[in-house]
Amino acid sequence: PELAFEIMSRFIDDIPSSSLKNIINKSYSTFTHEEVTPLVHHGDLHILELFHGPTLAFKDIALQFLGNLFEYLLDKEDLKLNILGATSGDTGSAAIYGVRGKKRINIFILHPHQRISRVQEKQMTTVTDENVFNIAVRGSFDDAQAIVKSLFRDIEFKKKYNLGAVNSINWARILAQVVYFVYSCLHVIRHEKDCSLDFTIPTGNFGDIFAGFIAKKMLPAGTIRQLTMATNANDILTRFVKSGDYSLGEVKMTSSPSMDIQAASNFERYLYYLMDQVPARTAELMAEFSRCGTLNLDDCQEQIRRDFTAASISDGEVSETISSFYDKHGYLLDPHTAVGVKAAEHFKTAGIPMVCLATAHPAKFSEVVKEATGVMPPAVDSLDGIMEAESRCKVMVAKDNDIRAYIAAHALR
Ligand SMILES: *Cc1c(COP(=O)(O)O)cnc(C)c1O
Repeated sequence: PELAFEIMSRFIDDIPSSSLKNIINKSYSTFTHEEVTPLVHHGDLHILELFHGPTLAFKDIALQFLGNLFEYLLDKEDLKLNILGATSGDTGSAAIYGVRGKKRINIFILHPHQRISRVQEKQMTTVTDENVFNIAVRGSFDDAQAIVKSLFRDIEFKKKYNLGAVNSINWARILAQVVYFVYSCLHVIRHEKDCSLDFTIPTGNFGDIFAGFIAKKMLPAGTIRQLTMATNANDILTRFVKSGDYSLGEVKMTSSPSMDIQAASNFERYLYYLMDQVPARTAELMAEFSRCGTLNLDDCQEQIRRDFTAASISDGEVSETISSFYDKHGYLLDPHTAVGVKAAEHFKTAGIPMVCLATAHPAKFSEVVKEATGVMPPAVDSLDGIMEAESRCKVMVAKDNDIRAYIAAHALR
């Protein structure tokens, strides 16, 4: 918490120190490990465990903070907020746990009916606080997402109900994630007397790795040497780093579903730096991308390669990595973390510590882990009894107007 305060207070000048400290302490108090994000050491890798929050994925770190931040600001301004979002799994549950039970907030989360994992579904729908509204949409994630976007585009509706989002382009989320990069540097450098280290980050929406990019800029030059972006078969970002080509493909389903993304929503932030922080050039590129679905950044190749290395990992390699890592070290990796660990093998340099971000608990993806190793991940308290617990969810057809009416009927005013 002290480190989080040191870092965040450099970006926040409109919340008194004592209040910011309270918000941070409250946010970390829901984590089950006293270090919040402990580092463990296996073979020649440091694994940064980011999964000790209420929903067992790294998104809790930012969303617990965001929930408390919203609560504080809404109280201060005497306002109410209705959060609306669509999820393909992890974000929705982390967002729900971030705001459950908060007085001035209602949250409406759409997920594709019967198209997310049973555990993910139960994690969301068993939260029966009266401010939480789960909506299962008959359709795909894209259908759910399209409805959310169309409601946000309706400016009148958005204003009337003070609609807000918690998606991964929210700066407060990125900021909260910068903290554990700096934490890792302090921790590893203290123990190994090195002055330089590398990170590998399982990547989907480019949020976590962008936080690493910010941390790299904040720390003395060379402290973070290399940021490796690890993607699954959805390899648009890896292609971009390797060849400067950023073109949309079809979303492929993999064993690491939270990274099944093509257009990464935080990518624009990096483009801004690549365009020497000139907003007009960034806007031009983004407009071109939405017109053509492709960008060619040949001219920036050298800079991109100074900033990132990248590898795309197949489901076969994920399974093989989970299995061999367990054989060698007796440690279970979840499929997202395994994407990173495999990529780290490609880029590990002797003598330079490598930190791999562990973004989800293996128990959250137990089928994949069991199939790879034959071992069932140990039970976790927060999933205990979840399959049988009372749950609440409204199943609806994928129609803008139906969902709009449902929200209007249940929103805080
Ligand atoms: C969201 C998520 C990721 C991807 O993180 P981004 O910030 O979107 O790049 C990786 N692993 C898990 C388990 C996630 O939930």
